[in-house]
Amino acid sequence: MENDINNNLNKVTFNKEPQDSIRKEKSLKFSLGNCCQSSNFSNHRKVDSPSTDDILCNKMNINENKFNLNYQTDCPEIKFNFSLPPKIGLQNIGATCYMNATLQCFCHIEKFVNFFKYSKQVISMVRNNKNSLTSSFKLLIEKLWPNNYNESYSQKYYTPEEFKNKISKMNPLFEGIAANDAKDLVNFIIMTLHEELNKAKKCDINNNNILDQRDQQLMFNNFTKNFTSKNQSIISDLFYGINCNITQCTNCNSNIYNYQIYFFLVFPLEEVRKFKTNNFISNSVNIYDCFDYDKKVNFMFGENSMYCNYCKQNTNCNMCTCLTTGPEILIILLNRGHGIEFNVKINFMEDLDLSNYIQLKNTGVKYKLIGIITHMGDSGMGGHFIAYCKDPISQSWYKYNDKIVSEVQNFQNEIVNSAMPYMLFYQKYS
Ligand SMILES: [Zn+2]
Repeated sequence: MENDINNNLNKVTFNKEPQDSIRKEKSLKFSLGNCCQSSNFSNHRKVDSPSTDDILCNKMNINENKFNLNYQTDCPEIKFNFSLPPKIGLQNIGATCYMNATLQCFCHIEKFVNFFKYSKQVISMVRNNKNSLTSSFKLLIEKLWPNNYNESYSQKYYTPEEFKNKISKMNPLFEGIAANDAKDLVNFIIMTLHEELNKAKKCDINNNNILDQRDQQLMFNNFTKNFTSKNQSIISDLFYGINCNITQCTNCNSNIYNYQIYFFLVFPLEEVRKFKTNNFISNSVNIYDCFDYDKKVNFMFGENSMYCNYCKQNTNCNMCTCLTTGPEILIILLNRGHGIEFNVKINFMEDLDLSNYIQLKNTGVKYKLIGIITHMGDSGMGGHFIAYCKDPISQSWYKYNDKIVSEVQNFQNEIVNSAMPYMLFYQKYS
């Protein structure tokens, strides 16, 4: 997958090398599956540039009806067939609150849980490869969502030692008892499970043709054809969305389209706050401000101008990113960083309507919140992580603080007004 991303980056027509700092930031963002433009751009001169809608959305010319990104998994749509399962916490086994909070959020995604409980692909992999992350998830999900229990069911928490040992073996980042960042684990889980469960035959499509990158439909068709030939897993079905980087040359007015995959969005809250408040002072932003920030246009000029293949010279340009499709499970990382960013308050809600932001609206634009990872402390690495998850059966919210589980009585008071959200998990419903 990283190769795919790198290949995509290499296809950019504006091929003057960006400054090192920008290039580094880009590669970091891509490695995290992010599509946001970097904060490096925010220091650039702001001019009366067109909006992203001016550049792209009003000219959107993709045939939505033919589009189908997902492949069909072998797992039928099975609803949880439990009455009311116990809520099982996860014991902290040495600075593992980041892991526990992350796992609870994954294990409250209904399709994800169903797949790991019932899919033939998972059962076969567990039989044949006990060293896989898939087999650890299967074990974990059977513990958190047992088939058999009754009123005397006494297990209140599970010790995820097997899971911790597995990720420590697979990635040195998770070795030992050092505290880690939940976003690194989310990234690792999505990339590793996709690699293990990808059923694509990995055939190389002959793609030596030089495409006219100004042709949006052609670029989109080419991207989706390549993508679906190489990515067929429950993970790509659930977590992958498509976005488009658009670069508009201000000399010849050409729009250059580059499509790519994202699997979470990163919103830098202090940047969003500056973008929104535009010099009157406010210390709070809402979730839609973040999406507005994400689609802002950056004017690139001077040393940041780029080579235009159609003008055959360096030109100034407008750059922006648009969400072409939203994934079934949309993961949002609220980047607080250090210092003042930490205090920015984010207002979010259970219902999220992205009809103003997602271009292919018939692929679904409405989301419901199903999980939250909160973080207390002054950096991503230290502090304490807690998960809040919505029970897919009762639709009640529960707080998972390691092995202690409690029902949330008032969502607004206890979560939106009080908690410090770090990651939000939204599920598409239409
Ligand atoms: Zn040009």
